[in-house]
Amino acid sequence: MSLLQRIEGLQARIQRACEASGRDPATLELLPVSKKQPVALLREAAALGFTRFGENYVQEGADKAATLPELAFVLLGPLQRNKAKAALQHFAELQSLDRPELVERLRRLAEELGVVRPVWIQVDLWDEATKLGGCTGTGLPALIEALGDDARLPLRGLMAIPPPDDEGAFLQMAALRDRLQQDLGQPLLLSMGMSDDLEAAIAAGSDQVRIGTAFFGERSR
Ligand SMILES: *Cc1c(COP(=O)(O)O)cnc(C)c1O
Repeated sequence: MSLLQRIEGLQARIQRACEASGRDPATLELLPVSKKQPVALLREAAALGFTRFGENYVQEGADKAATLPELAFVLLGPLQRNKAKAALQHFAELQSLDRPELVERLRRLAEELGVVRPVWIQVDLWDEATKLGGCTGTGLPALIEALGDDARLPLRGLMAIPPPDDEGAFLQMAALRDRLQQDLGQPLLLSMGMSDDLEAAIAAGSDQVRIGTAFFGERSR
């Protein structure tokens, strides 16, 4: 199957999911996840109009950003302290904030580098079930406190990777988003839904689906 055919199939799936819950597809962002995909495929996707791509690893994303400077990269994977500077230098947005110490470090470095990077908090409400990083529900207030209203790291929303086959998890995230929006008095987006569960995520109100295999095909390594 060609990349175009795969993307058309994916877009039809997204369209149907939006229709099923009475949503306008224009309100949903499709973020292609290009980890472990070759640069040639990213170029092809860029020619089809995609300009933002999700990457999991700082070094891989930095390499792609250097090769494809016209594209923007979003960091999805867990971020280690010692990669914080490189992450700010090479990524347009950071989605995996999960602890106050990391936020403190990013704030200092963003100031030093003079950059503005929208950030998302990765939430894991099911820590028994997944080991993919993320801040627990009880850890959330301290993380938000650490972010404050730093103009260099504006908070865009919440990101989650719920355990498979737990559709209630998406609704839990939607409820958390609503509550936080009220508390903070600012709009927050929800990034959730991947190749296998985008329908449930869209039904629950996701604003951004992050799609790897259903967009690019199987990953190479
Ligand atoms: C790999 C990855 C995706 C995409 O996964 P697919 O199942 O291939 O769609 C989305 N989000 C994160 C955080 C990922 O690591």
